[in-house]
Amino acid sequence: MNAPAAATVFDIQRIRADFPLLARTVHGKPLVYLDNANTSQKPASVIEAVDEHYRRHNANVARAVHQLGEEATAAYEGARDSLAGFVNAASRNELVLTSGTTQSINLVAYSYALPRLKEGDAILTTTMEHHANIVPWQLVAARSGATVKAAPIDERGELIVERFVELLTPEVKLACVAHVSNVLGTVNPVREIARECRRRGIPLLVDGSQAVPHRPVDVQALGCDFYAFTGHKMLSPTGTGALWAKREHLESMPPFFGGGEMIREVSFDGTTFAEAPHKFEAGTPNIAGFAGVTAAIDYYRSLGFEAIRAWEQNLLAYATERLRDVPGLRIIGEAAHKEPVISFLLEGAQATDLATLLDLEGVAVRSGHHCAHPLMQFYGVPATLRASLAFYNTREEIDAFVVALLKVRKLLM
Ligand code: PMP
Repeated sequence: MNAPAAATVFDIQRIRADFPLLARTVHGKPLVYLDNANTSQKPASVIEAVDEHYRRHNANVARAVHQLGEEATAAYEGARDSLAGFVNAASRNELVLTSGTTQSINLVAYSYALPRLKEGDAILTTTMEHHANIVPWQLVAARSGATVKAAPIDERGELIVERFVELLTPEVKLACVAHVSNVLGTVNPVREIARECRRRGIPLLVDGSQAVPHRPVDVQALGCDFYAFTGHKMLSPTGTGALWAKREHLESMPPFFGGGEMIREVSFDGTTFAEAPHKFEAGTPNIAGFAGVTAAIDYYRSLGFEAIRAWEQNLLAYATERLRDVPGLRIIGEAAHKEPVISFLLEGAQATDLATLLDLEGVAVRSGHHCAHPLMQFYGVPATLRASLAFYNTREEIDAFVVALLKVRKLLM
């Protein structure tokens, strides 16, 4: 194999032992979990942080002055600090805690975009987006008379940046792009895109869902205006996520949800709101989940992204090479810069049939459109199979996956 061995400091067996679920079997076979772009597994420290919260600290946030209320508030606000550090925000107040990327993007759509959009305006996105970075824009476009435009990609699955830039016309009031594609693994040149947007005074939203699990993110260095991401793909509990936004944007945005926690004073003569980010956090949040987010970020820190990247990129190269040797296999997405996501098709076999048979071999991969219909339309396919890797995967697992694939391929031919 050409791919060099990853750094030996990465103690993979110790790391795997931190993830209880990885030890289980599926249909009597050792689990090979290659559906990490869908959701990641959780280390024991995250599971224990959630458990510990309910066993020892459970109370509501920001309402009670008693000890437990303070502890719960400290856990929740502590996650804001952790997340701010994780993406290098200039201030913790630039982080709105949400249930995930979908909520984060919808918040920007309804609170930032909708009040600004009028007939004839446009929102620019790309062909490779997840529906979460398409449909909210269509909904607010339909209400305002604006349109949604998509910048094209090429066959390799790379954004055609010159076309994206050409499409940044004066009608465009917001541009939206994935940092990393959930189907292709393509890493988009966000800094360059942000520079072009800034030149034209067009704010840029980045969907960071598939970037944060794999690379250090610095929102200030990227130069974007909004950065949306989800917790459950980065070792954290489901129902956690965040929106980072420049302070001036958050200040200019009206609340999206109304209710408790987000007000200063309520009366029937008029209600005043809390400062950002609290004005966007109505109701009781996923406090235990956010206790887990802090533990997840601590876990990433303990490994370091340098080591994670070295391991994952090595595994991506290995898996790509091995898959290329499978007869009739076509990889969809061959960008020069990729995170460890491999979509593929196998001649003569349906993606869903393959995924079902692979499951019987203990291999969890995803089949389907991956919430990216426009991308499937571009490639002229209804679905792909997708193997998405994490730093706890191994070459042995890739080997087991390829052996299983060759076996099920025979059954379907
Ligand atoms: N964007 C991308 C690129 C994604 O991969 C996903 C999750 N598949 C989402 C948005 C939506 O994330 P969530 O379901 O956690 O809100």
